[in-house]
Amino acid sequence: MGNGEVKPIFFAECPACKNKIWIKSDEVRRSTERLEGKILYSDAVYVSTFLKCPVCELTLTGSDEIRAANLPQQHIVQFEEDLAHRFMYGDDEDAYGDE
Ligand SMILES: [Zn+2]
Repeated sequence: MGNGEVKPIFFAECPACKNKIWIKSDEVRRSTERLEGKILYSDAVYVSTFLKCPVCELTLTGSDEIRAANLPQQHIVQFEEDLAHRFMYGDDEDAYGDE
């Protein structure tokens, strides 16, 4: 991992005041990469773990409370990485050295 990958941010509707608020989520699983054309795709599964509404101060801690409030508890995010990017920052470059 790495390469300046940005952690996705999720929002949900506050069950009390309907305000749109940030919901903290942690990555729990990542699929193996698959290659389509020149792009590597992988799916990451995020589970919501915490939220605090800045408007009405509702706080939910843990995925059980979040599920009980009928909020989206699991998010699936697709990551893409250009193969050229992988080669530029990845392994050694001895692919053309053999004569
Ligand atoms: Zn609220």
